[in-house]
Amino acid sequence: MRFEVDTHTHTVLSGHAQSTLLENAAAASEIGLKGIVLSDHGPSIQSAPPDFNISTFAYFPKYIHGVKIYYGCEVNITDYSGSLDIRDKYLQMLDYAIAGLHSFVITSGGRAKDTDAVMGAINNKYIDVIAHPDNPSYDIDYEVFVKEVARLGKLIELNEHSLDYRDGAAENAVLCLDLCKKHDVRIAVSSDAHISLNVGVCNSATKMLEANNFPSELIVNLTQERFDSYIASRAK
Ligand SMILES: [Zn+2]
Ligand SMILES: [Zn+2]
Repeated sequence: MRFEVDTHTHTVLSGHAQSTLLENAAAASEIGLKGIVLSDHGPSIQSAPPDFNISTFAYFPKYIHGVKIYYGCEVNITDYSGSLDIRDKYLQMLDYAIAGLHSFVITSGGRAKDTDAVMGAINNKYIDVIAHPDNPSYDIDYEVFVKEVARLGKLIELNEHSLDYRDGAAENAVLCLDLCKKHDVRIAVSSDAHISLNVGVCNSATKMLEANNFPSELIVNLTQERFDSYIASRAK
């Protein structure tokens, strides 16, 4: 299974990743990807740029090395009501917006509060998807959350980095995938690469999808055409 678009990648701008946007695009081109989402962290992660950084995206090309660049962000959820660390005036400039819980910013408040946090964030009209919802550092009521994502017509992320580096993430990811099948929710499969060599690399995610017999028609980034029609449908 090949995903034509990688929906979550970082650059040196995040402050703790190793490659530039040019290097990520070159790596993507080399392995035949058609698009990548640039999704550096929001400013609550200590090393990340301020939110006005997003206003500079307007100066950058839509294609680099033949690879389409979707200008996005991995916004931080900063409280249990789902508040975000990027102001709406910048969120509205993004092609694709990921919101995530990160332990540098917010720790688990237990199932009710963690669920409220992701429910609040996914209900922000500019947010498309919650980053690595399988992160076992939080306790999300997946049935409630996935049903809400279904109602909103948004996406669930399957994040390679989380599967590879977080103990317990795989079990949670399977729960999410099963609920996506049940409620007909589309997923976005991403590398969450922090170095160009990992752009487009989703081996654990691919194995999991195959083992789960996950319907390919629910993978929003399987083809660029499909991802582009999602992006067109979310035009704010
Ligand atoms: Zn993250
Ligand atoms: Zn990330």
